[in-house]
Amino acid sequence: MRKPVIAGNWKMYKTIDEAVRFVRELRPLVARAEHCEIIVAPPFTALRAAADAARGSNIAVAAQDAHWDTEGAHTGDISMRMLLDAGCTHVILGHSERRQDHWETDEDVNRKLKAALGAGLIPIVCVGETLVERESGRTEEVLERQFSRGFDALTPLEFSRIMMAYEPVWAIGTGRTATPEMAAASHAQLRSLVGDRCGDVTANQIRILYGGSVKPENIRGLVAKAGIDGALVGGASLKADWFAAIVNDSRG
Ligand code: PEP
Repeated sequence: MRKPVIAGNWKMYKTIDEAVRFVRELRPLVARAEHCEIIVAPPFTALRAAADAARGSNIAVAAQDAHWDTEGAHTGDISMRMLLDAGCTHVILGHSERRQDHWETDEDVNRKLKAALGAGLIPIVCVGETLVERESGRTEEVLERQFSRGFDALTPLEFSRIMMAYEPVWAIGTGRTATPEMAAASHAQLRSLVGDRCGDVTANQIRILYGGSVKPENIRGLVAKAGIDGALVGGASLKADWFAAIVNDSRG
């Protein structure tokens, strides 16, 4: 049995005080949610404070990106080691907004993925097609390319330590959710790519989250699908009561 994961990606929202208030408000709302893992991903500046506020609870803290080098002349960047130091256990990698706004390639994602694993962080690696790619029937081809390049040279053991997030770009922040059937088909494709590379045991272990306009109203339908192991939530993760509702309704 794969334990579901509900992760909130706060993007460039929340000051330190706001992050701490959020975590304090969320803690009692999700204290009894043992059926899933709960992760919040604040911006860099609020990581340490959010991790302190979450200490002793069932809420883990993720960063939204990091550089692959341990240290160096990379102005504005943050290393995996710095994330660990700030109290993170997870890191989101390859989010479509990083790919679009910062021209991140699958090869960059691969380097970051290996650096995260090397540092002992759990990567949550995002893949997904754009609207043009879906409408031109290229979804499978795009996922296959992102998988073969982004997850290149990963061992089965490393695969068992990561999470994937299928996030169709056209569903992110648009209010347009993939239907549970559409999401399940892409999850099945990704799981079978893992199976082809590493075998069925690893494929059955890896958690694949869905992301794209997940809300309290649609989480149940999504997690009811066998291959959907939770959600990566953007907009609806910014209010503690909405996020808690998604966590508590993700029982499947
Ligand atoms: C995201 O940022 O990963 C995301 C899925 O955003 P939203 O839920 O707002 O679509």
